[in-house]
Amino acid sequence: MIAKILPQLILKKPINTVDENIINCKNNPKHTLLHTKSPPIKTVDCPSCQGAMTHKVGRIPDSDYFAGRTLNKSLPGGFLYQCKICDLMFRFPLLDKELTDQLYKEGQADNWQYNDRARFDWETAATWIDTRSKGDILDIGCFDGQFLSNLSSKFHYYGVEIHKCAAAIAKQRGVNIIGDNFSDIPDDAKYDAVTAFDVIEHVSDPLIFLKKMAILTKKSGSIVLSTGNTQARTWRIMGSRYWYCTIPEHISFISPYWCRKHAPSCGLILESMKVFSHSEQNSWITILKVRQTIVNLVYKFAPNMFSLMRKFGWGGKNVAEKAELINHPPPWLTAKDHFIVKFRKI
Ligand SMILES: [Zn+2]
Repeated sequence: MIAKILPQLILKKPINTVDENIINCKNNPKHTLLHTKSPPIKTVDCPSCQGAMTHKVGRIPDSDYFAGRTLNKSLPGGFLYQCKICDLMFRFPLLDKELTDQLYKEGQADNWQYNDRARFDWETAATWIDTRSKGDILDIGCFDGQFLSNLSSKFHYYGVEIHKCAAAIAKQRGVNIIGDNFSDIPDDAKYDAVTAFDVIEHVSDPLIFLKKMAILTKKSGSIVLSTGNTQARTWRIMGSRYWYCTIPEHISFISPYWCRKHAPSCGLILESMKVFSHSEQNSWITILKVRQTIVNLVYKFAPNMFSLMRKFGWGGKNVAEKAELINHPPPWLTAKDHFIVKFRKI
């Protein structure tokens, strides 16, 4: 599922960016000449470690789709980087914040809809949290409050949600909306459990996000989050051309390894973890799985054939008008490429 969106959570923190020179050079050979005597090239630092031990996984294909809308002009994908220390993958360079804020706003206005089906991560989180008898629960990016309102009535529900229409529905469902920007929530507010489903991939520094979740959690309280899993086999095969990282709103990509690595510095213990797919489990799922696997493998190992099929109108992209989308990846929604994790505050 395309994640709920929280543009203010995209914390702007400068990264040492000299790789921009390389990017520009690739796009413009004349530019390369201008930079032949430039200072030594610095590295792109990991947002979580602030370390320079990163490597470029590859170029992320451009996209013309943002927050549920097809755009007139494609957005540049940039590059996917990976930290060799903590395994974080991240997009670099990021799109201009003013532009993304505007695109989020327009997308929100046009694409408001209810969540109306069971989700594995919600059901799992409800099981994990329901071991408590009562308490206060905060859901970051709670959208219309469906997850919270399905929990036991013994709990008090709190939510953070930027989408006004969704927040209004959440309020009707008994959710106390405490703000629209997670980073603005005062640190002295404390909850028994804090959750975030499909949100962390939208923030530029997931470690700051996790630390903030920990600050807002009472001692022995729970933190539950779900997102894409860079350690998924399908992602490892496809690299920077994996469908999930080509969604322009997605800029940071964590893994179970990243969670284990950074939990201690947040005062957390990792208690449970499960991998899952967001794809609906119906009677057609096996056929769909086989189809999406074949299409993605053709895209990976026979790109010319894939491009040719695109030219003939296959794949839902108008490459006659947007030639850069010829290499845009097909979706792989049936892949088990998400995970849900539970931490305990110590
Ligand atoms: Zn790192």
